[in-house]
Amino acid sequence: MTSGKTLSGRCLCGAVTFTAEPRALHMDSCHCSMCRRWSAGPLFAVDVGTSLKIADGAKLGVYGSSDWAERCFCSVCGSTLFWRMRDGSFTGVSAQAFDDPGIFEFTTEIFVDEKPANYAFAGERKRMTGAEVLAAFSKQSE
Ligand SMILES: [Zn+2]
Ligand SMILES: [Zn+2]
Repeated sequence: MTSGKTLSGRCLCGAVTFTAEPRALHMDSCHCSMCRRWSAGPLFAVDVGTSLKIADGAKLGVYGSSDWAERCFCSVCGSTLFWRMRDGSFTGVSAQAFDDPGIFEFTTEIFVDEKPANYAFAGERKRMTGAEVLAAFSKQSE
């Protein structure tokens, strides 16, 4: 299942450009400590499945943040770009890296149990703890 829309995006300096077809025009925010440290805020991510095509990846930096995942950024300007499974089964793209981040509906907040108390998003949406996210992920890959 995909949105059927191919969207383009880039890092701040333009050295890394890409296209991707999101599964849905949805974004979620991750409040986990790793995403916050990496992206300077809760990471707004868009699930693009396996559709990411990096047009120019010569300047793409890759950091292996865990045994199963890696985080990709522009090695020139430092922009946060992609979070992906090492086996290629899933990529989340930073919503803010797309040319038009305003088109995504904000549907879910994850790792809410790691969110610091000094900020909160207004409005009602699905909220999941880290344990709930990990349980949902392991069901998908069974
Ligand atoms: Zn850049
Ligand atoms: Zn996270």
